[in-house]
Amino acid sequence: MSSTKYIFVTGGVTSSLGKGIISASLAKLLVARGFSVTIQKLDPYINIDPGTLNPYEHGECYVTDDGAETDLDLGHYERFSNVPTSQANNVTTGRIYQAVIEKERRGDYLGETVQVIPHITDEIKYRIKLLGSKGKFDFVITEIGGTVGDIESLPYIETVRQLRWELGTDCVVVHLTLVPYLSAAGELKTKPTQHSVKMLLESGVQPDIIVCRTERSLNDALRHKIALFCNVAPSSVIESIDAESIYEVPMLMKKEGLDVEVLKKTKISYSQDIDLTQLEDFLYKLKHPKCSVDIALVGKYVELKDAYKSINEALIHASVSNQCKIKIKLIHSEEITKDNIAEKLEGMKAILVAPGFGERGIEGKITAIQYARENKLPFFGICLGMQCAVIEFSRNVLKLEGAHSTEMNPKTHHPVIDIMENQKKISCKGGTMRLGAYPCSLEKGSKAAAIYKKETISERHRHRYEFNDFYLEDFKKNGMIPSGINPEDGLVEIIELKDHPWFIGVQFHPEFKSTVANAHPLFVSFIKAAISCK
Ligand code: GLN
Repeated sequence: MSSTKYIFVTGGVTSSLGKGIISASLAKLLVARGFSVTIQKLDPYINIDPGTLNPYEHGECYVTDDGAETDLDLGHYERFSNVPTSQANNVTTGRIYQAVIEKERRGDYLGETVQVIPHITDEIKYRIKLLGSKGKFDFVITEIGGTVGDIESLPYIETVRQLRWELGTDCVVVHLTLVPYLSAAGELKTKPTQHSVKMLLESGVQPDIIVCRTERSLNDALRHKIALFCNVAPSSVIESIDAESIYEVPMLMKKEGLDVEVLKKTKISYSQDIDLTQLEDFLYKLKHPKCSVDIALVGKYVELKDAYKSINEALIHASVSNQCKIKIKLIHSEEITKDNIAEKLEGMKAILVAPGFGERGIEGKITAIQYARENKLPFFGICLGMQCAVIEFSRNVLKLEGAHSTEMNPKTHHPVIDIMENQKKISCKGGTMRLGAYPCSLEKGSKAAAIYKKETISERHRHRYEFNDFYLEDFKKNGMIPSGINPEDGLVEIIELKDHPWFIGVQFHPEFKSTVANAHPLFVSFIKAAISCK
């Protein structure tokens, strides 16, 4: 392809319409046609990145190989397209302003008045084009966070206006809106869509394609009505009907011809060839499970749908691999006590203890792990979940009274989990954890090595605390072995119990690397253990 094509995805009417899923689905279809695609998310908030935002504000923080703390939509992009993202794929208003202000302080603007237009919009443009400039990608799909009409997203919409003008047919704007069903009237309503397109037009942007999120199918009359009022061809009105699984959305978009519309608008010739066999196979297995398994997910954000997004998705990928239906029971760690744990875990075939920060709910997690260890229930601990397994083992098996992580109790006599040496001097919280991909060597003969079928792996991290080596010999002697070690600095990255059907804790976040095409081996093995758990 001669030049990179830029596709912008904006949203109207309301938030949570699924711009991320639509963007990821479009990417999936274009990749399946043999194009190289990357997706970028522009977030209008002033935080530099979502790393300092708590899950109540922003759901899960997704981590890339290069150590960027990013929006959870990047997780969808990777899971759908199987293409890794990076720091450049998520840009916030905070980062844009930070860059502009640094340039101003350096004197780069040579005495100019620094303004939203052109300085902020130029910086946004630079970040968008950076992904395309290396000629690596045929398509750069840029999702604009927020809803059209928000004060915060104005500079981004203005940038889209400028780029449309500059790029001509190398640029396509896809606008996602809502077509609500009013039960009292018994009708789908197009007015909110008309108004949101008008709002986009007020900023000088005419969308090329309108994707309509809806509960019920759009008929031809409605498609024509939207086309007429919004200045697009009826074929550019794409229905996005609610789906049972997000993984069906690429198929629905293919049926509606979203990818073909994009190819037509960017004047790219295309054939009928599109290879989606792998996704079709995934969906077939998802819809035709041969068994069912109940898994407990123990965490402190169970009321939030998005807090453990990647873990949920990785569990789904793994259950599909095992052709088994998974039912995830979310258990609030703050509500767990020694007296009710058996009741809470009744019927559960395995337990996963979630990552996290801070003291809240920690004792409940430890109690759940003790139950899993003693009752030989498959256990998977991720990051804080692994640290809790270490604390539980030291208190109840090694009899180290009051053992803890210094994150929760800085004065503990037995700091079995302690702050990393190079973290001690850090006072700024943003972007300073141990972040991104690190190598890990697996112990020969261990469960971890058998599961990965490799000697060295690479996994993504996001933490400040680690296993305290001082206690290592004691752990080994008593049956908890370090089966994964960082080859450069010796940090313990995986622990497992010898005398247990499946008890593994990992300091990293394997969930970030699980995709539809490559379900993560640890999750696949965990679900397998759950299926065979009596
Ligand atoms: N709070 C722990 C740490 O910082 C674990 C972090 C996590 O679970 N991501 O080390």
